[in-house]
Amino acid sequence: MTTTRILVTGGAGFIGSHYVRTLLGPAGPGDIEITVLDKLTYAGNPANLDPVRSHPAFRFVHGDICDTRLVAGLVAGHEQIVHFAAESHVDRSILGAAEFITTNVLGTQTLLDAALRFLHVSTDEVYGSLAEGSWPESDPLRPNSPYAASKASSDLVALSYHRTHGLDVRVTRCSNNYGHHHFPEKVIPLFVTNLLDGHRVPLYGEGLNVRDWLHIDDHVQGLELVRTGGRPGEVYNIGGGTELSNKELTTLLLDLAGAGWDSVEHVPDRLGHDLRYSVDCTKISRELGYRPRKDFTQGLAETFAWYRDHRAWWEPLKHKAAL
Ligand code: NAD
Repeated sequence: MTTTRILVTGGAGFIGSHYVRTLLGPAGPGDIEITVLDKLTYAGNPANLDPVRSHPAFRFVHGDICDTRLVAGLVAGHEQIVHFAAESHVDRSILGAAEFITTNVLGTQTLLDAALRFLHVSTDEVYGSLAEGSWPESDPLRPNSPYAASKASSDLVALSYHRTHGLDVRVTRCSNNYGHHHFPEKVIPLFVTNLLDGHRVPLYGEGLNVRDWLHIDDHVQGLELVRTGGRPGEVYNIGGGTELSNKELTTLLLDLAGAGWDSVEHVPDRLGHDLRYSVDCTKISRELGYRPRKDFTQGLAETFAWYRDHRAWWEPLKHKAAL
């Protein structure tokens, strides 16, 4: 069996750490070695990798994807890069975009310069906002937030390396992920942990913004299908098949917490808040057999229970980030 050495960037974050834990877990492919490269920003948490820390096929490198020398040296020992590292929170990009451009655009380009094979993890936010229907991968990119614009830029740079240099680049655009180990600034973990503490939850505007929710297990399933069977130079949407307005999501979370609408505080809407995202997943379903498996109601209940049972994980993060 030939071993594939994969450099996973951002592997101490929410999705990257789940990807690493899954691939090195009992259901993983078994023929891989993983090096995580992570800067450990406020969103990177070494504890997320504790379950695999002593795995013989795991290595952790603390560093920045913008560090050309570090990246060149590391990539030389790996066949593939799976690229999660990013500044990922839209609200932070509205307060200041510089880090988003540096890490998401320049960092991606630094990796591409060194890479042999590159799986670029992007987002449905690059398409903009749409009132009805769903985006196929061929739709134009109309990003609205600085975060989405930085991801759209990195998608285009990545695809340009395929067209110009023949690099094996595959791009995935997923919808909103949910699950355990999610930093408590994002809507689901923020609302769950506020409710667990008996605090109110801040709902933007009227709560009419619609998102498609994708469980991290299904995202990892989609990523592995694209890494192992996708076509170079192609983009694949990955969705969860559960569209909900923030108001509907809030209702479900209040029910799980046994709380009422008096626990909701309506706050001014996010600047430039996209109304609705919806990805068309026909391509990854037809070509690679992708199907989201996690029932949303069950996945949300499990996520709620995980936060209830893992205060020691999220309390210090919330305290440090003053959330
Ligand atoms: P996250 O914020 O939880 O984790 C990001 C990780 O990247 C952290 O561990 C951080 O320390 C690391 N990092 C940041 N800057 C770095 C740098 N310069 N060098 C090295 N490491 C650095 O993010 P996430 O939610 O796990 O998202 C992972 C990827 O998936 C991102 O590219 C994001 O754009 C994309 N995505 C996320 C979602 C979602 O719902 N969370 C949806 C669509 C796409």
